[in-house]
Amino acid sequence: MIQLYIPLNFLGVLYREIKQSLTDLDKMFTLMEKEREIADRPGALPLRLPSPLGEGGGGGDPAGDDWTVRFENVHFAYESSRPILHDVSFEIPSGRTVAVVGPSGSGKSTLARLLYRFYDVQQGRITIAGQDVRDVTQSSVRQVIGIVPQDTVLFNDTVEYNIAYGRPGATREQVEEAARAARIHGFIASTPKGYDTMVGERGLKLSGGEKQRVAIARTLLKNPPILIFDEATSALDSANERAIQSELKSAAQNKTTLVIAHRLSTVVDAHEILVVEAGRIIERGTHQQLLALGGRYADMWALQQSAESEQFGEVMGM
Ligand code: ATP
Repeated sequence: MIQLYIPLNFLGVLYREIKQSLTDLDKMFTLMEKEREIADRPGALPLRLPSPLGEGGGGGDPAGDDWTVRFENVHFAYESSRPILHDVSFEIPSGRTVAVVGPSGSGKSTLARLLYRFYDVQQGRITIAGQDVRDVTQSSVRQVIGIVPQDTVLFNDTVEYNIAYGRPGATREQVEEAARAARIHGFIASTPKGYDTMVGERGLKLSGGEKQRVAIARTLLKNPPILIFDEATSALDSANERAIQSELKSAAQNKTTLVIAHRLSTVVDAHEILVVEAGRIIERGTHQQLLALGGRYADMWALQQSAESEQFGEVMGM
């Protein structure tokens, strides 16, 4: 009994840590089916494919493409004594990108966790293609969402396995195609064993940028209609960061995308930017609208610009 308990307990701790950082969610859900805090409603059906754009929600049309995501008056607390989100409403129109910015602890990642349905909202609702995520099976919700987490934990397996995880049964050609699109193919091809190279803790160690590219390749292979990008807080060098951003941008094309941003340079092109503070949306709009507003976002932008030019000055010896 004790022998069984220790590994299960260990997995439980690991699961909680992973849930917190949005890392390798799918894998952990398979392992930790029993740890779920959220259960499907009895008789819950899978998410129906949406109707084509402009024809309203529902209908089960296989050609459906209206993957709009909505948060409607969402209130949420992890512990009832400490509310985290207050009356949060926003929409990510199908195929568009909404970015969330705000101070640490303001509730940005919580939005992503709720969309992926790690937790249920206490008030309000979240819909995907017009369907309340609480009314459909969790597995069907997770099938339509791809996550590029802050910090990708690789499995102790080959590069191919790590990428193909996005779509079990994918061929080597498909894996390579995804790796090319994520601009990691050249690096993989330069290693002696190529796609058979072992990675992870016991294999080849990849840099933060390389790991993120593997995560992008995995997500490209999965090709879900909805994406969540949890931007890395850890500093990549700026050339690497710009490259990753351009790869993320092409991955997000025509996908309904939620970006949790830590750098404002990532959000400039977003359809809408939400500025969150202490669990409330305090400003919203496009980059230009928010700059013109001259509020919190404009302050954050000015601060970041001056920090960047200072860094640039230091690098250039100015
Ligand atoms: P960061 O930019 O640092 O990643 P964030 O804006 O994404 O922060 P969240 O991770 O959404 O912030 O956390 C919002 C609040 O919820 C924080 O005060 C945090 O301490 C709290 N919180 C997060 N996860 C839990 C949990 N599992 N149980 C209780 N409180 C939690």
